[in-house]
Amino acid sequence: MTGFNPFTSDRALSEAVVREGAGWACQRLAAYGQFAGSAEATEWAALANEYPPVLRTHDRYGNRRDEVEFHPGWHNLMRAAVEHRIHNLPWSEPRPGAHVARAALSMLASETEAGHVCPISMTFSAMPVLAADPALEAEWGPLVRSGVYDPSFRPAAGKCGALIGMAMTEKQGGSDVRANTTRAVRDDGGGYLLEGHKWFCSAPMCDAFLVLAQAPGGLSCFLLPRWTAAGERNAFHLQRLKPKLGNRSNASAEVEFHQARASLVGEEGRGVQTIIEMVHHTRLDCAVGAAALMRRALAEALHHARYRRAFGRVLIDQPLMRNVLADLSLESEAATLLAMRVARAFDENQRAFARLAVALAKFWLAKRAPVHVAEALECLGGNGYVEESVMPRLYREAPLNSIWEGSGNVIALDVLRAIAKERGAFEEVVAEIRLARDPRITALLPASSREFEEGGARRMAERLAVALQASLVTRFSPPAMADAFRQTRLEGDWGRNFGTLPPPADLDGILAAALTPAN
Ligand SMILES: Cc1cc2nc3c(=O)[nH]c(=O)nc-3n(C[C@H](O)[C@H](O)[C@H](O)COP(=O)(O)OP(=O)(O)OC[C@H]3O[C@@H](n4cnc5c(N)ncnc54)[C@H](O)[C@@H]3O)c2cc1C
Repeated sequence: MTGFNPFTSDRALSEAVVREGAGWACQRLAAYGQFAGSAEATEWAALANEYPPVLRTHDRYGNRRDEVEFHPGWHNLMRAAVEHRIHNLPWSEPRPGAHVARAALSMLASETEAGHVCPISMTFSAMPVLAADPALEAEWGPLVRSGVYDPSFRPAAGKCGALIGMAMTEKQGGSDVRANTTRAVRDDGGGYLLEGHKWFCSAPMCDAFLVLAQAPGGLSCFLLPRWTAAGERNAFHLQRLKPKLGNRSNASAEVEFHQARASLVGEEGRGVQTIIEMVHHTRLDCAVGAAALMRRALAEALHHARYRRAFGRVLIDQPLMRNVLADLSLESEAATLLAMRVARAFDENQRAFARLAVALAKFWLAKRAPVHVAEALECLGGNGYVEESVMPRLYREAPLNSIWEGSGNVIALDVLRAIAKERGAFEEVVAEIRLARDPRITALLPASSREFEEGGARRMAERLAVALQASLVTRFSPPAMADAFRQTRLEGDWGRNFGTLPPPADLDGILAAALTPAN
């Protein structure tokens, strides 16, 4: 399946883009979509994963290099993403709908190759943190808002564009970042020196990183550049690249800081509150990325089923395969609608809604992706298990959106925290759910405060997320899809696997909707 356009062939996405305020971006999305589904991009995506990044710790004289070499395919994908401003659109061209447009572009990029979207997403997400500090904004803002991909390894002052990463996770700390042990002490010049490590630091060739470290005033946020102001390599030492299950095109490093120079961002002791703004934005891309994996997997399954003949008919005409494909289509449709609706909340600065809805969307979509992709893979039979089909890569990638930026339990607990602490968040999400005016949907809402207990956090997150999806699908999807979604996902007339839609489900209507291209 090459030479297709993942935007113009996706009715659900293109309708959502228009509805959520980014209709102006459709041409741009179609243009990037043409690249994203091209034979060229498909080849680069495969090569970037087949030839994963290589770490060069030292030069031949034993001096530290701390560089990572990537396959040219990676650079080509990165260049296209940067030139289409997937890393900065709302910051470089602020206008209503810019977040939705960028989220849709990010979805297309993830459908092509998810690994390279990691530094793209982190750079986008770091900007609100940098923008809050006038000195950092002056130094880094223009580089981040640039549309030039500049992978050269040199001081930022001499570059045409920069990328920003994030390193929070430590061995002993992990989700519990307050247990971080990396220390920050003030140096003579008003900056800080960092000593410690980070256990996961993805895209280590970024130009600077937001990191957390223990300063005299408590856990604080710092910007750590790869080069010092004096034009020397910062003491940011790459120990190892992790051999990962998936996401292989992207490097994820273990790093050590040995008196590395860094600037304080925000106030000492308020590190988590400062970096959380970045995390809030990357969580949106986890939700979008999960929707993207499901959409790509579905598109591959539909394509295969339309051409493969078995037992006298093309697969898509086999009644049981129709049920499987229709069920997968419902899940992908609801995922796309939810991701794009949450993106709009960033455009409209619906802070309370976004705070809760992004956690719901990340939790739920990231949990659905692995099972969805596995079933879609099986639609291709044995060929789906073979690398040349894109399916094994999607399958290996699928669990990741649930792990990084807060694993499932941590996000589910964050849902409870948002409900308890973000004034109006629960009410705004419930108000959106009620817009469908359907008692079957509101029946999912918690009946008592007992459901807000920590041990029930996943149950709560699931129910709110599905209710939100049901509200969106009811209002905006074709009736065949809306009816089947409610009957299965709300009323429980459903099995334990995909392909168990009940007999009244309008499989023809659902599949016709799934195969309808953009208007
Ligand atoms: C490919 C990849 C790239 C990554 N890149 C980066 C990066 O660039 N920068 C970065 O900072 N991090 C990165 N991470 C790290 C990632 O964010 C962490 O792995 C994640 O936040 C979980 O932390 P942990 O691994 O320490 O697990 P732990 O914190 O040890 O958690 C283990 C399990 O316990 C659960 N758990 C934790 N606390 C609770 C609780 N209170 N109640 C119930 N359950 C709980 C978690 O949900 C999880 O399932 C990356 C991870 C991966 C896999």
